[in-house]
Amino acid sequence: MDLVLDIEPFEQWARKSAPKLLISGPCSVESPEQMQQVVEKLGKAEQIDVLRGGIWKPRTRPDSFEGRGSIALAWLKSAGEALGKPVITEVANAQHVEDALNAGIDMLWIGARTTTNPFSVQEIADALKGVDVPVFVKNPINPDIQLWIGALERVNKAGIRKLAAIHRGFSSYENSVFRNIPMWEIPIALKSMKADLPILCDPSHIAGNRDMISFVSQKALDLNMDGLMIESHPDPKHALSDAEQQLSSERMQNFIQGLSMRTEKSSNPVFENQLEELRDIIDEIDADIIKKLVSRMDIVEKIGEYKRQNEVTIFQLERWREILQTRGSLAKSLDLDEEFMMSFLELVHELSIKRQTGIMNDKLQKD
Ligand code: PEP
Ligand code: MN
Repeated sequence: MDLVLDIEPFEQWARKSAPKLLISGPCSVESPEQMQQVVEKLGKAEQIDVLRGGIWKPRTRPDSFEGRGSIALAWLKSAGEALGKPVITEVANAQHVEDALNAGIDMLWIGARTTTNPFSVQEIADALKGVDVPVFVKNPINPDIQLWIGALERVNKAGIRKLAAIHRGFSSYENSVFRNIPMWEIPIALKSMKADLPILCDPSHIAGNRDMISFVSQKALDLNMDGLMIESHPDPKHALSDAEQQLSSERMQNFIQGLSMRTEKSSNPVFENQLEELRDIIDEIDADIIKKLVSRMDIVEKIGEYKRQNEVTIFQLERWREILQTRGSLAKSLDLDEEFMMSFLELVHELSIKRQTGIMNDKLQKD
């Protein structure tokens, strides 16, 4: 499925010092003094393109710090001016949009909790009509790509053409090392539907702790995401929100230098030639895999025919167990991920059952 959005090329509206857009700053704007420290300490990290700061904080439980509200917009804006960088904040309703724009906030983002609610997104979109401001849409907290797309469409229909998405992971009831499980396949699916839609990664809300931020950031860059939004604070341990996951403002410079900013293409012709040769081999291997699968399905159908003639069931637990066990250990011994092998076998088995069911029903259903 292709996604239709009328957007302005990212390069035209996002001023980047590195190949990727880097957004950083505190989770919440807490006080003028805190923002003064941000200016002093974050100022050294020249690679940061945009200063972030939360003004209205959506908190899961009441009685947590909910942001300073509109009064803090000016603190964020002056910090941006002192650093010579545009500023971005989160908006969750029409009033936030109005207040942020009146205070000269340069860019807006829609938070994960808001993206889940089409009424709120529509309210924001209506408030944005006739305004030319970049808007970043975070993924909804649940892994529903349609909700994410719907929010992007609503904002785009309101006339916002400087549009980007932010991947911040998905919440889950299951225990995980991540605060929000990345499920990288979802931003990849979004990118496949609309190649020129910029997608940034927010490793802070995926990781939920300082230690994993580098790893998640590098993974996002390796997947060719268009930038990063990283929470940083002059005194992270005493931050009023998300204290565990914010990097110290001083550390940002080193942190950014430690990342490999990979690009999609190389200017080295030797590398490009080698890549092409290796890809030709991959193409042949893939063709072989497909042909082998077709031969396997031919045999599966023959077996289906025998089973039908001899009144034998399609599914046989013992055989299925044997397949999982033998192929699982073969894969493991050859250093192929066992979990991948299991998922692959399940798909093959599902199709085999479908083919044999077709034979049993006396009408072969070719896919
Ligand atoms: C944030 O960026 O501070 C924030 C609240 O993010 P999210 O909407 O991803 O939870
Ligand atoms: Mn936060």
